[in-house]
Amino acid sequence: MLQLPEIHLDKKWQNYLDKWQKEINTSCADFGDELYLLALYKLLNSDYFRLLSFYFHSLIQQYFNALPSYSEKVTQAKIKYENRTRTATFKNIRATLETMCSGNRRCCYCEDSCADEVEHICPKSLYPELVFVWDNYLYSCGLCNPKKNNHYAVIVGNKIQPITRKKNDLIVPPPVGKDVFINPRIENPLDLLELDLGDDLDGTFFFQPRYHLSEDSIDYQRAKYTIAILDLNDRDYLCRGREQGALNYRARLIEYQQEKSKAKRQQLINAFKKMSYPTVWQEMKNQYKNIPSIYSLIEEFPEILDW
Ligand SMILES: [Zn+2]
Repeated sequence: MLQLPEIHLDKKWQNYLDKWQKEINTSCADFGDELYLLALYKLLNSDYFRLLSFYFHSLIQQYFNALPSYSEKVTQAKIKYENRTRTATFKNIRATLETMCSGNRRCCYCEDSCADEVEHICPKSLYPELVFVWDNYLYSCGLCNPKKNNHYAVIVGNKIQPITRKKNDLIVPPPVGKDVFINPRIENPLDLLELDLGDDLDGTFFFQPRYHLSEDSIDYQRAKYTIAILDLNDRDYLCRGREQGALNYRARLIEYQQEKSKAKRQQLINAFKKMSYPTVWQEMKNQYKNIPSIYSLIEEFPEILDW
């Protein structure tokens, strides 16, 4: 998972998104009343009132339903989004998201499968105010998208608080806090994640928190959470794919070293930049001083580090 390039949506389509989002944001009252109710709900659901929690749960949900605010926004966001995914605007959005993908339209999360689903990084069922927000989209595959689904978490008071909503949970606004999930639209995932390349491209090819992060740091927890939610290590074909990607990168580098023709070298560079698993290549560059079989090669041709 690499940081995605900053690409703006065509103004015409952006205006449609803004208009639709505004319809959701302004159609209901603000969250003020709900926050009071949420505080009351937490109090009533505490240990002191545990025996009465079922009664309070249904009572408070009735109050929430009566308020035309957050829960109504969630409902409206779902309906409006489903109604608009087949419009010309979304055809254009898909085409623009495709330009952010690596290689042949690979998924922005796993880099393995074909990307064909518009993914909301902050789930639309939790954040109706972000359902038509361009920066909240990326293109993912039909395996990563359902794995992530509406799993999400925020950091509240230095602790990770999961906010995934289950079937019978109250439809209430999530707590405010920093996002735990690494967002490749706005940050570089490789600041927190590194790939186990082993001693010489013979590692597990698992993602893991970066070496320098201490286990009790929030960044370490964010890395672990993101790897788990996307199931980046337990899908064996992903690890084998990354390994194959690394060996392919190394083979192309050796070809480059041996090629004497300038034109053919340029051809190799052009093909190299379109190869699968760009995160693997990024990590090979990050770690090349510890990879004997490519170290001397990169020392001989340092321009390779710009590829
Ligand atoms: Zn994927």
